Amino acid sequence: MNVKLPGTVPEALDLLASEGTVIPIAGGTDLLVHWPVRVEAHDRTYVDLSRLEALKPLRWAADALMLGGLTTYWNVIRDERAREEFPLLVDAARQVGAIQIQARGTWAGNIVNASPAADGVPVLMAYDAVVVLESRSGREEVPLDRFYAGYKEMKRRPDQLVVGIRIPRRRYTYQVFEKVGARRAQAIAKVGLAVTRSSAGWRVVAASVAPTIRRCPALERLLEAGIPIASPEALLPAIAQDVAPIDDIRSSADYRTRVMARVLYHDLRDFWGKRA
Ligand SMILES: Cc1cc2nc3c(=O)[nH]c(=O)nc-3n(C[C@H](O)[C@H](O)[C@H](O)COP(=O)(O)OP(=O)(O)OC[C@H]3O[C@@H](n4cnc5c(N)ncnc54)[C@H](O)[C@@H]3O)c2cc1C
Repeated sequence: MNVKLPGTVPEALDLLASEGTVIPIAGGTDLLVHWPVRVEAHDRTYVDLSRLEALKPLRWAADALMLGGLTTYWNVIRDERAREEFPLLVDAARQVGAIQIQARGTWAGNIVNASPAADGVPVLMAYDAVVVLESRSGREEVPLDRFYAGYKEMKRRPDQLVVGIRIPRRRYTYQVFEKVGARRAQAIAKVGLAVTRSSAGWRVVAASVAPTIRRCPALERLLEAGIPIASPEALLPAIAQDVAPIDDIRSSADYRTRVMARVLYHDLRDFWGKRA
């Protein structure tokens, strides 16, 4: 294993632009889990980002919250303003692994790891987050809901570092995050849901029910129409258009679909009840 320890972002970008496969390590909570079994990964060059102080803090601007490329879940959990303005970030962060993982794991690592069952990605997507990438050839911004092209495929070149995640500040009239797992901690989501409503409209984001975390346009259209839904079953046709769950070790496709409909229905029933 060859590990480089750059002291600045430009040094890190130079390393990522060099020949061969060079892999960034942030918290290491995804990368190193596979270390004992993926022996071929031992021969690679890794760029340890831990000295890049500029990427650690989260910053508040007038129109956005900026998470750094090394901002951890714990940084967000401890930020009082985040709790007030973006409560789903805190809800999701508190449900990632346990405290040790929350202290090391980063939002950028969650995005680039690209697990369809991730917890950070759905809430970021429901808040219309934008991924800020940097390489020696410049900066690029990609909305998170257009970042993934397929299972573990994304619009990030190997020479690009995620240097930030921009989350626009808006007034939300509805926001909820649900993670259905086998336990309350250290569980991988069988179904994840993040739903928001703001001046930009409804966002419904689903996890663990498709090869990537994704927005659900048919469900969003249904909610935009503003017609109360009579039962969980009434959501099934839209769900069938939006997601493609599979049977796997954690759950069956049928269970995931039905749970998604039930959880969404019960969450929204309270919202419709209040408006009625
Ligand atoms: C016990 C355990 C429990 C877990 N529980 C959960 C859970 O409940 N929910 C959940 O969503 N995840 C969970 N995870 C997975 C993991 O903790 C998260 O995905 C975490 O956010 C990964 O962040 P990291 O900084 O550790 O990433 P790393 O492991 O350092 O990197 C992950 C990937 O991102 C790339 N990368 C990292 N930073 C950058 C960057 N700035 N720019 C470009 N590429 C980058 C790396 O090259 C790698 O491909 C768990 C992991 C463990 C070990």
